[in-house]
Amino acid sequence: MCGIVAYIGERQAYPILIKGLKRLEYRGYDSAGVALLHQDNLNIYKKKGKVDGLVSFADDFDTTSTIGMGHTRWATHGEPNDINAHPHFSGDDHLTIVHNGIIENYDILKQALEQQGHVFKSDTDTEVLIHLIEEVQRSQGLVLEEAVRIALTKIVGAYAIVVIDKKEPNKIVAARKSSPLVVGIGENEFFLASDATPIIEYTKKVTYLNDEEVAVVHRDGTFQIKTIQNEELTPSFQYLDIQIELLEKGGYDYFMLKEIFQQPKTVSDCMRGRLNAEEGWTKLGSVENNIEKFLQANRIIFVACGTSWHAGLVAEYLFEELARIPVEVEYASEFRYRNPVLNENDIVIAISQSGETADTLAAIQLAKERGAFVYGVVNVVGSSIARATDSGSYIHAGPEIGVASTKAFTGQLTLLTMMALNLAYRKGTIAKDFYRQMVVEFSTIPDKIQQTLEDNNHIEFIAEQIRGSENALYLGRGYNFPVALEGALKLKEISYIHAEGYPAAEMKHGPIALIDEMMPVVVIATNKSAYEKIVSNIQEVKARKGRVIAIVTEGDKQIRKMADFVIEIPEVEEIFSPLVSAIPLQLLSYHTAVMRGCNVDQPRNLAKSVTVE
Ligand code: GLU
Repeated sequence: MCGIVAYIGERQAYPILIKGLKRLEYRGYDSAGVALLHQDNLNIYKKKGKVDGLVSFADDFDTTSTIGMGHTRWATHGEPNDINAHPHFSGDDHLTIVHNGIIENYDILKQALEQQGHVFKSDTDTEVLIHLIEEVQRSQGLVLEEAVRIALTKIVGAYAIVVIDKKEPNKIVAARKSSPLVVGIGENEFFLASDATPIIEYTKKVTYLNDEEVAVVHRDGTFQIKTIQNEELTPSFQYLDIQIELLEKGGYDYFMLKEIFQQPKTVSDCMRGRLNAEEGWTKLGSVENNIEKFLQANRIIFVACGTSWHAGLVAEYLFEELARIPVEVEYASEFRYRNPVLNENDIVIAISQSGETADTLAAIQLAKERGAFVYGVVNVVGSSIARATDSGSYIHAGPEIGVASTKAFTGQLTLLTMMALNLAYRKGTIAKDFYRQMVVEFSTIPDKIQQTLEDNNHIEFIAEQIRGSENALYLGRGYNFPVALEGALKLKEISYIHAEGYPAAEMKHGPIALIDEMMPVVVIATNKSAYEKIVSNIQEVKARKGRVIAIVTEGDKQIRKMADFVIEIPEVEEIFSPLVSAIPLQLLSYHTAVMRGCNVDQPRNLAKSVTVE
């Protein structure tokens, strides 16, 4: 996935690059590196591991420079080590590159370049690209931006790149296709980055590059954008609206904990202007603008990955029960290669925190080609998915930095619940009184989340009891089945305990064989419907000596008698229960992971924004 940052101007580049890389570290942390051009010296400092390791390493060197680039890597080609770390040099060391993405035809290009005498030092696809640029530049005698542009016409795959040429020290060239890149425009200075967070301190004026566009920024403050087909473009500008405090930990040990505790606010922020409890309505401008399409939809297909896919599963229950619209929920990565049957009365809703998820973007492209109306539910403003969809809504959760998604999940649920309620009312599948009553009840959810967070110490105590486990099972029914999946994902991704989520009744078709006294079984048992069935499932676990941690509704007596540990959440309508029952599961995973000594914000092998397939 990788994070990219670059600077040209009058300031010292190195501190800007390091600060930017720390902000982008969520995108990958296999290695970090910078390239700095000072007088005639183009120097690269790079190291396996995190940005802090790079900083200690670079301490011994002169980092004076007003032009440079930095990279934090999530390896796709070549193991994470010092040599494969970016930036990479061209063969004669006069060019350097950082890259986010995958050059799919790197092998064939590499063979051809080797025949022309190129020698490669790393195993990366990226190094092949910089040698190709060098070859084009040398053989055709081109300025850097032209060499980059022409080389990119020979590339299959995805890229966001930044290139510097020490023979042309007053410019930086950047380009993108399917991986994000934003250009920040200051006074006689430019910033380039994978997202806006490294830029926000210095300027609010930005332009987002589109696919197959090449930008050249000059030290004199001028810049140009072209397509790789050599068509000149007039850039359009946007103005950033992010507060810097949102990018800091603000006294919490980890971003993840901060983000869990922000949820009463982020859920209310998502509702702001879209839900009015006094007047009893909820609506979304982008749904209103396309209301006929939504009311006539034959089917809604949610496409998403990871946690966002779980939000889609909750939405399946909501949209089918309330609005009586048939729903399918697809992994974007499967959908895109499955030749799905789609037509213009289908609505495809893409859900993504980052708005950059490569598989989801590809699914959107496919859905559009097949004539479906595509709607996006996204957190990051201005992201590729926000721009690629026909319409959509932001969840307004603010920057989510912890790799394990928490507040974005509840933001997605909030938005999708408002959508389902509004559509149900508009379609006449729920009565007006019920609609108003649900809107009022929904408006109390932020307070109920707050109340649940107050149980943090008790949840920490329960985490102590499961920290030594190697496996865990999560069970839920109905609306809480996707929450069980999400709880299991949260535990495995940050604590490295193997965990599985199941519909509670499915347990007896397999997973029950795993249950013994070592196995914690987390049961989300807040359902009013099927309560007795959940009670029976708990009995089945207890009969096999499993240790039950039950999430129950305040005041529940029956399950308290059977379960080993109980976490109470406030009483809530079943359709809203995922928003509250997800909270203790987030805290349980967080505390367990911290007790096991894991870095919860940057779990191994993961990255937040999955911009590769
Ligand atoms: N393919 C490049 C590498 O492995 C970049 C990886 C990425 O952007 O995720 O170094």
